[in-house]
Amino acid sequence: MEKVALVSEEIRLQGVPISGGIAIGIIQVFHHNEEWVVPEYEILHEHIELEIGRYRLALSKSKENLRELQDLFHEEGGSEGASIIGAQIQMLEDPLLTGEIEDKIRASRKNGESVFKGFISEYMRFFSDESDPEVHQRLLDVKDVAARVLKHLYPQWVEHDEKNLLQSIICSYELVPSYTAEATLGEVQAFITEIGGSTSHAALIAKAKAIPYVSNIKIDTLKVSGGCTVIVDGTYGNVIINPSKTTINMYQRKQRGQSVRFDVMKEEEAEVRTIDGTIIDVQANVETLADLDLLKRAKIKKIGLVRSEFLYMRKELETVGENEQYQLYKKLVQLAGNMEIVFRVFDIGSDKKLLSANNHEPNPALGERSIRFLLKHRKFFSTQIRAILRASVFGKVHLMLPLVTDIGELIEAKMHIHEERLKLEKEGYEVPGVLSIGCMVEVPAFVIMCDQMVKECDFLSIGTNDLIQYTLAVDRSNPLTSDRYGEAHPSILRMIEHVVKIGHGANIPVSICGEIASNPLYTKRLLELGVRALSCAPRYIPAIKRAIRSIDLESVCS
Ligand code: PEP
Ligand code: MG
Repeated sequence: MEKVALVSEEIRLQGVPISGGIAIGIIQVFHHNEEWVVPEYEILHEHIELEIGRYRLALSKSKENLRELQDLFHEEGGSEGASIIGAQIQMLEDPLLTGEIEDKIRASRKNGESVFKGFISEYMRFFSDESDPEVHQRLLDVKDVAARVLKHLYPQWVEHDEKNLLQSIICSYELVPSYTAEATLGEVQAFITEIGGSTSHAALIAKAKAIPYVSNIKIDTLKVSGGCTVIVDGTYGNVIINPSKTTINMYQRKQRGQSVRFDVMKEEEAEVRTIDGTIIDVQANVETLADLDLLKRAKIKKIGLVRSEFLYMRKELETVGENEQYQLYKKLVQLAGNMEIVFRVFDIGSDKKLLSANNHEPNPALGERSIRFLLKHRKFFSTQIRAILRASVFGKVHLMLPLVTDIGELIEAKMHIHEERLKLEKEGYEVPGVLSIGCMVEVPAFVIMCDQMVKECDFLSIGTNDLIQYTLAVDRSNPLTSDRYGEAHPSILRMIEHVVKIGHGANIPVSICGEIASNPLYTKRLLELGVRALSCAPRYIPAIKRAIRSIDLESVCS
């Protein structure tokens, strides 16, 4: 993947873009993965309980740090970050790390840090041959939590690591999630790593914090450039070491141009038109209640996608009852106010696991996920549908079905929704008069059969993230194939054009809610293909609106 080309004194490296944006700063190589070196010594019999107390204190301090981080995420509205950190807190409560380590300290009469390090190293060795990206991510989380506990047990171990990180571009073989979580834009300018896919936990957090991030860069190449100026362009995956003055000037200009992306609050006008006057409907993708706060001044008319499963990530699905869901959906609908709101029913399985629904399928992306899971495990489907229907009387709610593959599946799901609605009515609940039901377009089979599918749909929303995965046969979360995940592959563009044409021909709204909708580089191309509605994460809305306003479709078409 990586190509090195010497351009006078500049070195240009091409990596994989993970989190967009431009940063200019000084390279710092971050040794988070270095060998843990801790002392090992005997504990006197009479001091064993004291040693255990010291170990417990390290665990509770670690938990305290993580809770603070989690609170920060909640305040900032970063649901993914908060749930990743939540899972780390759970690890610290695992009996393996509490009772078992304490027993080992008692039995071996060794100091806490050496017992703890030994245990974790063995655990890591046991799984180290696993090539499954999810197991790898889990190991990275374990390593991250372990480093935090060790830091409290033996502070000397990391002291040298955490200096000089301000105003830097951090280069590391791999990033652990909590380090990314602690980084603040302004302190850490950007990340460069050798490995790490775009849906790794660290990547999700970097994106949520709008910190540029490029991966697939050989860290050895950068070691010789320690302390040099570097430009990171997270949108294109470029890393430029020792940039010339001209290059710096050019990137500084680009940087100024993109700054609006971080400033959702300044948005004013509701209507967005291209230069030639074509109205484009900019909508929002929402994952948390806090996202709605960001939208208050973004002036949009519609929340095009509520990823409802994100509201319950890392929870046991069985524990999320109808009333709990109803209360949360009602709050969302009320906060949405005049905005229409599209609830996507639980898109679980594959890369989005709700623990009880965890499947150990050989090929989960092609397995029992999304609508397939819900149709098979009806009680989860019914609970959610009932809660959404009850909440919909408070606003303008639409329902969206993910990963629909054929018409039979769609009709089955619609019938189930209809039955739940009748039951609610019989039970005396108020339900909405009409409720439109639409589909995500994420599977090539749907695209091919689109002319038939639209007869049963009230609207369509193209989920390019999955459509790309299933069309190009590339796992969207596998870093090894991320260079093959072509966001604007001609086959995808053709599919978009086809779906838009069929949808509009059938007089139903069609939007795009995959990541491509949030990337201003593609806005013009999408509008040329006939797209008139884009649904993106709130933080990208200003940039997308700006891009739309700079496009002249008339000159394009003539
Ligand atoms: C998509 O697949 O494009 C999409 C929007 O859904 P998700 O990313 O949640 O799978
Ligand atoms: Mg999807």
